[in-house]
Amino acid sequence: MIRLPGLIDPHVHLREPGATHKEDFDSGTAAALAGGFTAVLAMPNTQPPLTNSASLAQAQAAAKDKARCDYGIYLGAGVDNAASAAECAPLVCGLKMYLDQTYGPLRLDELATLGDHVARWPVDRPMAVHAEGRSLAAILFLAALHARPLHVCHVSREVEITLIRAAKEKGIQVTCEVTPHHLFLTENDLPQLGEGRGEVRPRLATAADQDALWANLEVIDCFATDHAPHTLAEKDGENPPPGFPGLETALGLYLNAVHEGRMTFDDLIARTHTNPRRIFGLPDQTETFVEVDPDALWEVQATQMYTRCGWTPFEGLQLRGRVRRVTLRDRLAFADDQVLAPPGFGVNLAPVTQTENQ
Ligand SMILES: [Zn+2]
Repeated sequence: MIRLPGLIDPHVHLREPGATHKEDFDSGTAAALAGGFTAVLAMPNTQPPLTNSASLAQAQAAAKDKARCDYGIYLGAGVDNAASAAECAPLVCGLKMYLDQTYGPLRLDELATLGDHVARWPVDRPMAVHAEGRSLAAILFLAALHARPLHVCHVSREVEITLIRAAKEKGIQVTCEVTPHHLFLTENDLPQLGEGRGEVRPRLATAADQDALWANLEVIDCFATDHAPHTLAEKDGENPPPGFPGLETALGLYLNAVHEGRMTFDDLIARTHTNPRRIFGLPDQTETFVEVDPDALWEVQATQMYTRCGWTPFEGLQLRGRVRRVTLRDRLAFADDQVLAPPGFGVNLAPVTQTENQ
């Protein structure tokens, strides 16, 4: 048995408020613990989107009642909330800006709006962006101009990881994350996945793009699942929404990659614990760790999972390396395939002052 620090996932969608038939703070954080994650940062593209203090309060109340692991919640950058967003900064783990189309209503198109958010958001609070292709160059320039740190979500293509490498070499304060599905799946997997189930943003990329991610592992600061559950009926229906679940397969995929010699345990710990904690300024979770059996062989099966969505793009995959026990703040939170931490056990890790938990 090997002991790892509690994994931190800086990018999940827990669908609450508004779409709890897909997931909620209870099922999503149960899936997190089952996958070895002791903290998750939840995205704001809910219904309503988390763009003001009222909607944020709704999500925070649900999380406080239902979360089984620790968490933070992002504020969404909207077309008209740049001024008020900064006032909410102390309550959230960061601001999320959507520059490209994905699930939900939060896309920003106007350069003036982007500039306004970059200029007004407190420079010491994290800012995360969905920015592909040209959008990435635009937001990198704005962030550099305002000398503020930027975290780039789910980098998927060679041209993007190359741009981030170049920006880092120029001293621009940029960090980035890559998802397990972009590390372990490509567009060549689409025929087997099927049209609806294969929908994800950013899209699955080419084998050359995937090779570039692995070749630039040192440029990748975090692994983030972008856990984005939609039900099987939705994925197989008309207008399938983009998104894959990922919390319960990520660590198995990473451990398997360690076994295959594609990365080391140190690479894994840096990208799933040390770096996300530093980038998002999260407090230490004392007496918190994950015990994994690096030699356990297992087969990915959605029927064994805690996520509410009922499917996984990795169904049937054989992996080596499995989560056995998770201890969160000195409490056994997961053991023998059972989630033991009750709803409400999770605490809000952002703001650091913990005001709403007192
Ligand atoms: Zn996402």
